[in-house]
Amino acid sequence: MIRFSFLAFGFVLAAGSAYAQCNSNPPYPTTCYLADPTYDPERRGNYVPPTCSALGTGYDSQIKAAFDCAHPRVQQDLRKLSAIFVLPQNYPVGAGKSFGMWENPTNQHVAGRSYIFLSQNAFGKSLSRAESETQNAVLAATGNSLRVQYQVVPDAGALGLLSVMAHEAAHAKWYRDGVARASCYVNRIRPFWTGVPNRKWVEFADDAGSDHAPASGTRHPKRGLNEGQLHSLYPRFASVFAAISPEEDFVETYKLIALAPTRLTTFQMTTPTGASSNIKSLMTTGRLKTKIDCVLGLL
Ligand SMILES: [Zn+2]
Repeated sequence: MIRFSFLAFGFVLAAGSAYAQCNSNPPYPTTCYLADPTYDPERRGNYVPPTCSALGTGYDSQIKAAFDCAHPRVQQDLRKLSAIFVLPQNYPVGAGKSFGMWENPTNQHVAGRSYIFLSQNAFGKSLSRAESETQNAVLAATGNSLRVQYQVVPDAGALGLLSVMAHEAAHAKWYRDGVARASCYVNRIRPFWTGVPNRKWVEFADDAGSDHAPASGTRHPKRGLNEGQLHSLYPRFASVFAAISPEEDFVETYKLIALAPTRLTTFQMTTPTGASSNIKSLMTTGRLKTKIDCVLGLL
């Protein structure tokens, strides 16, 4: 696990490139430090909600900078969160990972509040680094030795944090807003999956038995992907992570909308032979555009 350090923080602030498409756009969601390291998001019955304590200005300003760069519709959706928490170091749930959370009214809180919890190692990374690390962790989790590299211009640090915030907010939304039952999801995304598992707690890159439907024309990452098969995912999925499960398919599409790569000069993924998938271009056509249009309609 990579630990956040003051040195790394200072470096990234100095190296972060300006990104003209980000403008101050309050009101911001409440930002908090999770004061109670025993908070258990999986607890059912006698559930205790997370407690909010003051967040250092460094974290608060980075969260707001990331929010300012999000697609306007995603900003609206992020405002539905009751709070954005930063986790303490050594927080035991998720082993250094960020997560999103919806309080199920039937056994947690009747108000059904939603939150995202950001690991300290989500901060201080450029978008190319954050995306490369995330997608390579997915490949590693499926036993694949292939590794990818994202190229992003301008490679703003605020977008690296936004990618994590948007991913986790989309998981909260999936449950809070019943995305799996939305008609465009049922009609335009679900047919490419064999089914939609009903889950409570989703571990990183857990496919929960999901597979691509025969008509999908794609191969599930757990079945092993060569470079060509990996690239064949990208006209149809927002990322290799999106191809893991129906829920991640929605979540990574939402994240792609949040990042609004059409505003970037370059947003692409390259494999070791030099072959690349131009995500900025692919998202404007075909199945990936159909997914984006569906998710935009849910924001
Ligand atoms: Zn996820």
